[in-house]
Amino acid sequence: MAGRVCRSLGSCTMSEFPATARTTPTRLRERAVYDAAQVFAVLDEALICHLGVVVDGEPLVLPTIHARVGDVLYLHGSSGAHLARLVAQSEQADDGGLPVCVTVTQVDGLVLARSQFHHSMNYRSVVVRGRATLVKDPAELDIALHAVVEHVLRGRSEQSRPGDAKELAATAVLRVPIVEASLKQRSGPPSDDPEDVAGGFWAGVLPVATGFGDPQPSPDLTPGILVPHHVLAPARRPRSPSPQ
Ligand SMILES: Cc1cc2nc3c(=O)[nH]c(=O)nc-3n(C[C@H](O)[C@H](O)[C@H](O)COP(=O)(O)OP(=O)(O)OC[C@H]3O[C@@H](n4cnc5c(N)ncnc54)[C@H](O)[C@@H]3O)c2cc1C
Repeated sequence: MAGRVCRSLGSCTMSEFPATARTTPTRLRERAVYDAAQVFAVLDEALICHLGVVVDGEPLVLPTIHARVGDVLYLHGSSGAHLARLVAQSEQADDGGLPVCVTVTQVDGLVLARSQFHHSMNYRSVVVRGRATLVKDPAELDIALHAVVEHVLRGRSEQSRPGDAKELAATAVLRVPIVEASLKQRSGPPSDDPEDVAGGFWAGVLPVATGFGDPQPSPDLTPGILVPHHVLAPARRPRSPSPQ
C-alpha cells in the first residue's frame, strides 16, 4: 500500500485502500478497485449517497447529500433528526462513533444481452464502511458545510448566504473518515454465451447519462437578476453517453 502525505484537514492519507475482509466482494472480485483516486472520483461525481445504519437491530438506508474533503465524507441533516441523535448516543457510549455504510452508484449503461440471464448494467459504485461522529469544531463545520454546498453545485457558496447561528444550531454534520472503501465497476458489452450470439436478438449497451436542464428561475426572483455562470455552465459535467 503506497502512502501519501497528509498535510491538512481531511487531506488524503492513502493512495490505495486496503482490501479488508469486509470490503472484498464475494463474487467478481476482479471488478473491485481500491485506488483512492478512482474511489474519490466516483464519490465526487455522484449527486447523492445512501447511508446505511442499523437501528434497534433493523437496517435503515436513507438517501442524502454528501461531500468529500480529502479522505473524509461529510453528511449533514437536522440536529433533531433520528440519525444525529443516534450518532450522539454512540459518542456518549465512547465506542468510536456509529457504524455506517455509505454507498454511491453511477449507472453508465443498460446492458442488453440476448439472454435474459446476462442482462446487466454498466456502473461504478462505491461502498464506504466506517464510523460516523458529529463534527463539533467550528472550523471543521465551516469546511464541511462549504463542501456540502459546493457538492450541490460548484460555485454556489460564493453566490448564496451563509448559515446564521440559528441555522447552524439546527444543522448536524456527520464525519465519516474514508479508511475502508471499495469501488466496483462494470463496463463493456453484454457477455452472452456463444450459443446465444448466433441468435436473432439485438444485443448491446444503451448508455445512460445524467444531465442538467435549463435553469428555472424562482417565481419570486427579484427582476433583473441574471442566471449566474456557474448555473448556466455547471462544473459538474455528466459523463458523455458512450458505449463502453
Ligand atoms: C447498478 C447496479 C446494479 C447491480 N445489479 C445487481 C444484480 O441485479 N444482482 C446482483 O447480484 N448484483 C448486482 N449488482 C452488484 C451488487 O452491488 C453486488 O456487488 C453483488 O450482489 C455481489 O455482492 P457480493 O456478494 O460479492 O458482495 P459482498 O460479499 O456482500 O460484499 C462485501 C464487500 O464487497 C464490496 N462490494 C460489494 N458490492 C459492491 C459494489 N457494488 N460496489 C462497491 N463495493 C462493493 C463492499 O465493500 C462490501 O462490503 C449491481 C450493482 C450495481 C451498482
